[in-house]
Amino acid sequence: MIWLDFSMFLVLLGLFFYVFASSSVTVLHRIYLLLHIIFMIWPLFQFISQTTSSDIFRNFYLTVSYIDLSLLGIGWFVFIVFLTGQSYVIRKSRLFILSIPALISVAVVLINPDDLFLRLSEQQDSFKQLQHGPLYWVMIAQLLLYMAVSVIIMLHRLRGDVSDRQRTLIRTAMTGMFTLLMFSLSDLFMNVLLTDYLTRYIPLISVGMVFAAVYLVHAIGRNKVFDIIQMVQRDVMNTMSMGIIVLDENNTIIEVNKAIKPIIRLRVGDKFNAAVVVSQFKGETAKELEAFFGEERKRPHERLEFELTIEMDPYRHVIVQSAPILNHRKAIVGRVLTFQDVTELRLLVEETNMQNEQLQDRNRDLLIMQDELFQANKKLEHMAITDGLTGCYNRRYLLHKLEQEIVTNIRYGIPFSIFLFDLDYFKSINDTYGHLVGDEVLCSTVDVVRRALRLTDVLARYGGEEFTVYLPHTNRDQADMIAQMVMESVEQNKVFTGTSEQALSVTISMGVISIEHFEPSDLDDPKAFLRELLSQADAALYEAKYSGRNKIVKRKLA
Ligand code: GH3
Ligand code: MG
Ligand code: MG
Repeated sequence: MIWLDFSMFLVLLGLFFYVFASSSVTVLHRIYLLLHIIFMIWPLFQFISQTTSSDIFRNFYLTVSYIDLSLLGIGWFVFIVFLTGQSYVIRKSRLFILSIPALISVAVVLINPDDLFLRLSEQQDSFKQLQHGPLYWVMIAQLLLYMAVSVIIMLHRLRGDVSDRQRTLIRTAMTGMFTLLMFSLSDLFMNVLLTDYLTRYIPLISVGMVFAAVYLVHAIGRNKVFDIIQMVQRDVMNTMSMGIIVLDENNTIIEVNKAIKPIIRLRVGDKFNAAVVVSQFKGETAKELEAFFGEERKRPHERLEFELTIEMDPYRHVIVQSAPILNHRKAIVGRVLTFQDVTELRLLVEETNMQNEQLQDRNRDLLIMQDELFQANKKLEHMAITDGLTGCYNRRYLLHKLEQEIVTNIRYGIPFSIFLFDLDYFKSINDTYGHLVGDEVLCSTVDVVRRALRLTDVLARYGGEEFTVYLPHTNRDQADMIAQMVMESVEQNKVFTGTSEQALSVTISMGVISIEHFEPSDLDDPKAFLRELLSQADAALYEAKYSGRNKIVKRKLA
């Protein structure tokens, strides 16, 4: 029946493993529980072995307990590796090599060759029946080996850059191990070496295991090693680029993250002292920070923010924020200070602003250039259609204008007139007074003609001292009137020149042509129609010259 009990125990043990392997606890959780099970099996089987009178069973229970003890070293070693955050040491490929000493020990216990590991003698006293052979030291040696390697790992870790929390954990683990080691060595000394002198078995390893387990569980609980949320929170905080300081209501620093280290030196557990923090900065930065802390004291319920420029190389821009932590009753239970380095952002903004300014400058230059170009174009356009000397339109413009206007006039039957006039005896003015005076006379004549015309009339220099006027919407009578006015204005005009005392006056001869009636066929070739018009005007002018000058000759279109 005892086998049934044992089978049930194994089933329950299996279920126990299954639950822990499948539930959501940390790896460290699981490893600690395995170590704990190793702690549990030793006293259990030591106890059972003493309750049976059967040698076979006793042998079996003792074998189980010694296999368990053989695994204590590697169990402890794995726990230490995970506790100190160096799980990479135990890769799958290495696990077998690392567990060779423990496996050898297990094999020795199982095989127990020639009872060289353990022998049960014929003595009456069950305690004294246990005779440890030379192979027993194989197990002791591998246990000490694992312990030694664990100590080396822990010392190595302590020497490196390690957080306060991990330092505490490693010290806890070392104390636990030291406790266990002391008890185990005492056990070895008393129960193995001094068996002959003792009358009772003293389960010192078991006591040591209990001490170590109680100590570890207490220390682990206090340091919240298994608190996943807290671990995640700490990891998240440490991976943040923003420096964070958390203070409690007594201004004690309860948390700082890694990012704060390059900015301010602080220790968890210390009182937060604004003056000490300020003293870590120089000049303007210190003053600004001092003012900020002063403001913070005055307005503890508010969330404050300011930008700090730290005189480092290069300058760092840090946004400092201070916010109260409130409980559900809106009472202040602490304060959180954050330091966010925005240097990159500032530099980017500055660069963008600079580029913007450059762009605006370039834009301004472009606008100026565009304006200059526009003015130059206007000038060119003006030059292209005006006469350089007199300022009236040139022949090219007039012909172009006439070509366009004539089409509209013919299509809609709008009457219009054309003057062609020429200065009389102009050559003699040139000959008598010189070309410059001749120019002045030309300009002056153009001025008076322009004044006698209407705004809509187009005066153009046709060539030399010959001019054309296009009079839109002008019938014969109106054209006669205007032609008369022009003639009189020119005749009455006195030109005073710088070189001559007496005023000069000129007359003009003019050919006038007015079109009041149109034939539809006129539209067939407007250019030819225009040519015809101009030649008629020319003929009229010629006639005016021929018949004595200072005259107007009117022509109808044939
Ligand atoms: P008329 O027309 O009455 O028959 O006699 P005219 O002396 O005016 O005629 P002609 O065509 O022989 O002379 C025109 C003169 O005008 C010749 C030329 O030197 C002069 N002339 C043409 N263009 C200009 C100019 O831009 N400035 C000056 N000063 N003279 C010019
Ligand atoms: Mg002339
Ligand atoms: Mg002429």
